[in-house]
Amino acid sequence: MNTKLVIANWKMNPQTLREAKRIAGGIKTVASKNRKTQVIVCPSFLHLITLSSVGHKPISYGAQNVFCEKDGSHTGETSLSMLKDAGVSHIILGHSERRAKGETSEDVQKKISLVLKEKLIPILCIGEAERDMEGEYLSVIKNEIKDALKDVSQANVKKIVIAYEPVWAIGKTGEEAITGRDLHEMTLYIRKVLSDLYNQRTAFSVPVLYGGSVTGNNAKDIFSEGEVQGFLVGRASLDAKEFGKIISIVNKA
Ligand code: PEP
Repeated sequence: MNTKLVIANWKMNPQTLREAKRIAGGIKTVASKNRKTQVIVCPSFLHLITLSSVGHKPISYGAQNVFCEKDGSHTGETSLSMLKDAGVSHIILGHSERRAKGETSEDVQKKISLVLKEKLIPILCIGEAERDMEGEYLSVIKNEIKDALKDVSQANVKKIVIAYEPVWAIGKTGEEAITGRDLHEMTLYIRKVLSDLYNQRTAFSVPVLYGGSVTGNNAKDIFSEGEVQGFLVGRASLDAKEFGKIISIVNKA
């Protein structure tokens, strides 16, 4: 697990291809100077095709979702083969914004198996909506991991990336992100769950990322204390300069 990862989730942004190309070009420049860190950009499907054909190496491209069936009549959906053909290497799955729109654990489970079968890398998003004093949020995390990995073998789980994204920290100000200390506790817990499901060695071979209001200002503390292998970044990834700061921090650490 030597690779550090910084992933951009552009969500439904930016509004024009021209702007998408401009941001990707800026990220490519920073990524070229920070080669110890793998940088993956997940644009909208519409922009993905052009951006990945332009290339922007060493950036890799990822998708924000995929449909859970391999093929068939599914109006408005995008298949894994289409994404593979477009040059995608990673797929974000189970993002809280998709779960909030009705994506179930069964959907996530199905999609993970599909993605692994096609030898792409699933980025499994997990995260509690809120933190309660009784520690119920830990069960939320445990169940999300157990449900998503139900059909995943020990050999395959090592090919997955887990992104811990507490819903309460997404889309907030940098001050509202998790503290490094709380994140460290959570990464230990995630590894314990993985260890119980597989074994300790396997648990430590799965990269765990953090996502939720990461900025150029808070990335250093969160990364150094949190025991994560990188970040999944939303808003700050739309600003190549700000995102570049995050990439450099991770790369230097
Ligand atoms: C996200 O939604 O995946 C995310 C991390 O967003 P933000 O960085 O804007 O909180």
